[in-house]
Amino acid sequence: MNGQGFTVTGVSKTYGGAGEVRALDGIDLTVGEGEFVVLLGRSGCGKSTLLEIMAGLQRPTTGTVRLGGREITEPDERIGVVFQDPSLYPWRTVGRNVELGLELAGLPKGRRRAVAQEHLELVGLPDAGNKYPRQLSGGMRQRVGIARALATRPDVLLMDEPFGAVDHLTRLQLQQDLLRLWAEDTRTVVFVTHDVAEAIVLADRIVLLAPGPGRIARTWDVPRPRPRTLGEPGLTALREEIYAQLEDTGTREKEGQPR
Ligand code: ADP
Ligand code: MG
Repeated sequence: MNGQGFTVTGVSKTYGGAGEVRALDGIDLTVGEGEFVVLLGRSGCGKSTLLEIMAGLQRPTTGTVRLGGREITEPDERIGVVFQDPSLYPWRTVGRNVELGLELAGLPKGRRRAVAQEHLELVGLPDAGNKYPRQLSGGMRQRVGIARALATRPDVLLMDEPFGAVDHLTRLQLQQDLLRLWAEDTRTVVFVTHDVAEAIVLADRIVLLAPGPGRIARTWDVPRPRPRTLGEPGLTALREEIYAQLEDTGTREKEGQPR
């Protein structure tokens, strides 16, 4: 299946209420069909806000988001979302958790079962269907979240620090698994992280956000073939550049911007 491209135009977001927060300002971003883009930045720079706006879970204060030319104003069946916490229902089996989106889509029971099982196999959990979430490790639960997002066959996957809560080795494994899934069935991916190494390993393109208000500080293409190792000559230099830029934006952060 082919993905679809995103166009983010002039997006800003101000959270109202006491002590207004300008979370985003003037975001312009194009994500090509099938492209793997990583939004990188330190905590509080507006990554989640941008991703939620792209997912139709939040409305921007100004600006628009289009997917395949159609404006996104609410959750869309073409978009799958994965968060750091997969929020599985503890009273449902793993299989029935994966079936969730398929239920909403009105698929008949037998078909739901088959599609859920197929996607559990895809994420490396062929025997988990009849278990309960509490019986799985954190990394396995995150795989279930990915299976659930993929089961409805979205064109686009939006992922917000999906591997942020698992241990380091599991995280490396999940990164490779995600790249395998993406290579097998290329779809557009927008992946949020604050981890520079993760960004370099995964991305076609890295978009660095700076805080106060959240804006795009810089972007880099990562033209190296995958799998990548951080020790590769081109990537070591890239990493240093990104850290230098992060330090720059960090100074501004200290100059009185919230977090
Ligand atoms: P990130 O994901 O990069 O850590 P967020 O998008 O979560 O950043 O937050 C960006 C800014 O907006 C932060 O200053 C945060 O405190 C603020 N913010 C996020 N969500 C809300 C909200 N619902 N209400 C008010 N402020 C918010
Ligand atoms: Mg966030």
